[in-house]
Amino acid sequence: MATVDLNDVRKVYAGGFEAVKGVSIAIPDKALCVLVGPSGCGKSTLLRMIAGLETISSGTISIDGKVVNNIGPTDRDIAMVFQNYALYPHMSVYDNMAYGLRNRGTPKPEIDSRVRATAKTLELDQLLDRKPRQLSGGQRQRVAMGRAIVRNPKVFLFDEPLSNLDAKLRGQMRVEIKNLQRNLGVTSVYVTHDQLEAMTLADMLVVMNAGVIEQIGAPMDVYEKP
Ligand code: ADP
Ligand code: ADP
Repeated sequence: MATVDLNDVRKVYAGGFEAVKGVSIAIPDKALCVLVGPSGCGKSTLLRMIAGLETISSGTISIDGKVVNNIGPTDRDIAMVFQNYALYPHMSVYDNMAYGLRNRGTPKPEIDSRVRATAKTLELDQLLDRKPRQLSGGQRQRVAMGRAIVRNPKVFLFDEPLSNLDAKLRGQMRVEIKNLQRNLGVTSVYVTHDQLEAMTLADMLVVMNAGVIEQIGAPMDVYEKP
């Protein structure tokens, strides 16, 4: 179980540009919160602050009620899925999924059972020996998700994970991500500039513009407003 709370979060980049101007969001346990808005509105900056990859200029970010402002990315119990997959090209599917667990010193038999169980969930169990270049775009995206899931994180962060895929595959993966997130019940924050993607996926929709929240609520409520 995990709640994620942003309280008046602000980001001023070196040079003085204010990319996020006091954002507050309370994300309930198991919810999928989508951040949507035009390029440059501060979505990635916000996501990277939740991940611990970017410092917070002021405000607080809490996970399960505990302020994580000064906790490093590897100690936040968070997994991130990127648009460019960020797979290691020289490693097999198995090794890509095992990498994070090995780094954390997880015992080998546990790594093996978790990688195989995750691969099964994602229908990658026949592809464990392949290299990323021997996979389709959708399969690569599933490996990237597998790498996140295998660690059993409290929170998933998605940074435009589907934007490199063609329209048909994007539709397919959208459904897969939604089902997976629902089945696993992992609290998630998902960044996109695609309104359809936002509508389909979100339990909770946050529309951002120029560093502030313009609207926030259930997708139907947000898009029905004039
Ligand atoms: P989005 O994800 O919505 O496209 P970003 O969070 O990437 O937006 O960027 C928000 C704003 O902050 C943009 O104007 C961008 O140019 C600026 N920005 C992003 N990273 C930096 C940085 N490292 N230094 C200065 N400005 C940055
Ligand atoms: P192979 O065809 O022998 O599997 P690749 O061409 O895929 O090798 O790999 C290139 C290099 O990457 C080799 O030097 C190999 O030792 C290294 N490599 C392959 N898998 C891993 C891994 N899981 N961790 C670290 N290095 C690896």
